[in-house]
Amino acid sequence: MARVTLVTGGSRGIGRAVAQRLGASGYPIAVNYTSRADAAEEVVESIRSAGGSAMAVGADVSQVDAVAAMFETVEAELGPVEVLVNNAGITRDGLLLRMGEDDWDRVISVNLKSVYLCSKAALRSMIRSRWGRIVSIGSVSGLSGNPGQANYAASKAGVIGFSKSLAKEVGSRGVTVNVVAPGFIATDMTEELGEAAVNAASESTSVGRLGTPGEVASAVEYLAADDASYITGQVLVVDGGLAL
Ligand code: NDP
Repeated sequence: MARVTLVTGGSRGIGRAVAQRLGASGYPIAVNYTSRADAAEEVVESIRSAGGSAMAVGADVSQVDAVAAMFETVEAELGPVEVLVNNAGITRDGLLLRMGEDDWDRVISVNLKSVYLCSKAALRSMIRSRWGRIVSIGSVSGLSGNPGQANYAASKAGVIGFSKSLAKEVGSRGVTVNVVAPGFIATDMTEELGEAAVNAASESTSVGRLGTPGEVASAVEYLAADDASYITGQVLVVDGGLAL
């Protein structure tokens, strides 16, 4: 069934792969971005040229007014959002003693407040139609912690607590709420780490390599499907055995 899907941060990396994967499966896709309109348009074009339907929608998902405007635009063009993929995220790494308040606030806003804002905005129509899927992209950092990522790990652990609570609130209305927690995935975000750190990360997995955005996208597609109707409040770790 073609369910209208909004992917936050769909212009690059994991979000791009999710948008393309679900787009190829026939879901009409809204590709959200915050600064790279050109990258979002490219994703839209790739979905359309593969026979799917898609639109780009700019919004900083940490801002309440921007989120409200984004949902209005998507609803007017594609219809109410039935599948929400909370993917937009940033890092501002640093050891705690050197972590500025701005680095803390920005990461919590973009990674966690956005999940609250977008899920709330999506929920009314999901409850009305008694069907919905909310899949948020967490991180193994949110499960195990990571030095230099106190802000990021706190935001991702927050996404898990949020999702489990919301799953309990809305399960009886046909809405499931789950988290996909990737390990190291090859995207712009991990490219910032540098070659030595990427090699060390690869070695610390069981499969001996970084994951691909497509490998995360397939987990998201699984949880977004009708067939996943009895799975809610879960964290699906996609990390090649990193956290074992
Ligand atoms: P990228 O840095 O490759 O892409 C980030 C995406 O988020 C871009 O589309 C960007 O838009 C968008 N974005 C950033 N800030 C905002 C904002 N305020 N409002 C709307 N969109 C925004 O990241 P990844 O693909 O690597 O990461 C995607 C998600 O997966 C994140 O939540 C991240 O924490 C998580 N994750 C990633 C891992 C990895 O190894 N890569 C591991 C574990 C979790 P624009 O193009 O306009 O800048």
